[in-house]
Amino acid sequence: MHAHPETAFRDTDARAVQPEPTGLDPADWTALRAEGRAMLETMFDFLEHGAERPVWRAPPQAVRARFREALPLSPTRLADCHATFVADILPYASGNTHPGFMGWVQGGGTPVGMLAEMLAAGLNANLGGRDHMPIEVERQVLAWVREMFDFPDTASGLFVTGTSQANFMAVVIARAKALSVQVRDRGLLDCATRLTAYTSNAAHGCVARAMDLAGLGSDHLRRVEVDADHRIDLGALRRRIQADREAGFTPFLIIGTAGAVDVGAIDDLDALADIAAAETLSFHVDGALGALAVLSPELAPLVSGIQRCDSLAFDFHKWGQVPYDAGFLLVRDGEQHRQTFAADAGYLTRADRGLAAGDWWPCDYGMDLSRGFRALKTWLTLKTYGATALGDSIAFTCALARQLAARIRQEPELTLLAPVALNIVCFSYGDGRHDPEIVADLQVDGEVAPSLTRLDGRPAIRAAIVNHRTRAEHIDALIKGVLDRGRALSRGA
Ligand SMILES: *Cc1c(COP(=O)(O)O)cnc(C)c1O
Repeated sequence: MHAHPETAFRDTDARAVQPEPTGLDPADWTALRAEGRAMLETMFDFLEHGAERPVWRAPPQAVRARFREALPLSPTRLADCHATFVADILPYASGNTHPGFMGWVQGGGTPVGMLAEMLAAGLNANLGGRDHMPIEVERQVLAWVREMFDFPDTASGLFVTGTSQANFMAVVIARAKALSVQVRDRGLLDCATRLTAYTSNAAHGCVARAMDLAGLGSDHLRRVEVDADHRIDLGALRRRIQADREAGFTPFLIIGTAGAVDVGAIDDLDALADIAAAETLSFHVDGALGALAVLSPELAPLVSGIQRCDSLAFDFHKWGQVPYDAGFLLVRDGEQHRQTFAADAGYLTRADRGLAAGDWWPCDYGMDLSRGFRALKTWLTLKTYGATALGDSIAFTCALARQLAARIRQEPELTLLAPVALNIVCFSYGDGRHDPEIVADLQVDGEVAPSLTRLDGRPAIRAAIVNHRTRAEHIDALIKGVLDRGRALSRGA
């Protein structure tokens, strides 16, 4: 039996229970510095020579087994853990830093972003609020984002994990606007208004989940058909809104997509803004991939109308090449945004001066109170490369996609399955029956890694060119790889 702690303390001489210090900083800073530099070298080597490795290798069973050990109670030398990282983790990453990675819409990261992560981790800043300089850095990025999308100074915004979270928050903001912020207290149980939202059937799955999580139900997201270019059919959208009104529903939100996940299509955002204005609906844009097209003068016209939305979700970790994760939500009506999320709590009391001062606390604009310093890696990326270079690298991925599409049109054995609006190319070898095998073979082989998707009910090989490191030679390798394997499989080899 244990003595009650208070009793134990009362009976004991205070000096006898002086605790042993158990701080976690190193006893030997010199050794730690040396190991830290070695770790930095590991990652510089990885990024400088990444193209020499396979895109992806399946983690061997023996390696996986080493990560099923019991909770370690005693210490392991940092150098040994570093060696484990080099041997067991680094070679078996998913490969999105590799120029041959084209499977999914994932950014490639940059060495500058990596360094920023180190600086941010060292500061260990919590950006929920209060008066400190990291908050000003996030504010600076918010100001840049407003500038990129021509939003007014009164617009609000903040970093979130990704567009999935940002889309959810946008639905919650639009819900509070439609039902008044009292919905925060009362909930939806006795709410007679049946809200309906509208998006295309090419929208990302997280949009339906946002409706589900917001308590509105994914059935109340109307997934409108798309036209031949995979853009939302505007006539069908108008008819659906009308039909819902007649059936007693309350339409409240249109969600446009800038860069659909399957083929990269961009809805007619200007037309959606017009419809939303005419119907007095909120207008949100899922620009996870495509929003940053505004950084390229050549591509910006494709997302025209994005400046008119009420809220915008996008990811700096995709085309922006900022390391994971760096999603962003921008909201035109900053006050509506604040009222949707702000909450009073004694421990969050604001002061006029001191550390609890500061007139902008991100915790008032989202669910997270503890928030990391995502702003620093984004700030450093925009500062060191400049928005022009980022825009150029974005435009280059689209040029490569067009080059790939042109090669596919030239090859009689290949079929282009969707128009190439941005940087995503969907195609097939022959009648498509071998596409799953071709994709798996290429991934295992490790030179280029496309993915498999389904389009109009048939399999499709999908190349999403997002990584700033991808070059024409990787496009050539993809074409050659698909043709070689397709021919071998057709011969029954
Ligand atoms: C990637 C993507 C998402 C999801 O964004 P996360 O950052 O992964 O949460 C949503 N919509 C589209 C169109 C996407 O491409």
